[in-house]
Amino acid sequence: MIKAVLFDLDDTLYPEMDFVASGFRAVAQHLKSLGVDPAQAEARLQALLAARGRGRIFNDILEEFGLYSEERVKTLLFLYRSHRPTLRLPEATRAVLDNLKGQGLKLGVITDGAAVMQKNKIEALGLEAWMKVMIPTDILGTSCWKPSMVPYQMALELLELSGPEVIYVGDNVTKDCLGANRVGLTTVQLLHLEGSAAQERRPEYQAHHPIKSLAELLTLLPTL
Ligand SMILES: [Mg+2]
Repeated sequence: MIKAVLFDLDDTLYPEMDFVASGFRAVAQHLKSLGVDPAQAEARLQALLAARGRGRIFNDILEEFGLYSEERVKTLLFLYRSHRPTLRLPEATRAVLDNLKGQGLKLGVITDGAAVMQKNKIEALGLEAWMKVMIPTDILGTSCWKPSMVPYQMALELLELSGPEVIYVGDNVTKDCLGANRVGLTTVQLLHLEGSAAQERRPEYQAHHPIKSLAELLTLLPTL
């Protein structure tokens, strides 16, 4: 019998682009102090993201405005990761979490990414209201990022439950389900309409159940 549901955070409980936009605003405010129009900076950051992804975005924006230095790249990265984001939990997520909690299920979140950044996201989204365990894996070092089994084992211990009593819901096929499958959890992959960029076909990486929206969890649960 299922007694707990654990969730991934980014692009599972809320759209990660909301955080990215919030981070870009923090970065643009700093660029303003260096004489750059912040609205223009934000627009350029969004354009660079769309064109080239996140890898060297802060190098590129500083170069574009003639402000590049290695230290400044670090400053922008620091601001992006450590700023207090403005985020809102989507209504659809809120409804699902309310429903699950109302059924007496224990809830939790397991999330990768810089620890301070993930903690700030959890706080900004107000997830403490629903979650019994909140595990930013980075607190234990990158070796414990998903798909490590460690955060799942830790969640089971903290919840005092065993694998078959717990579901894990995530969106990323390359890392969300492997560790959870190995620990014996039932795994659910949230498929985004645009499709996952990374393709991973090895069977141990696959979720037991794909869903197209979080709300589908509510109809899936009674069948498990
Ligand atoms: Mg995710």
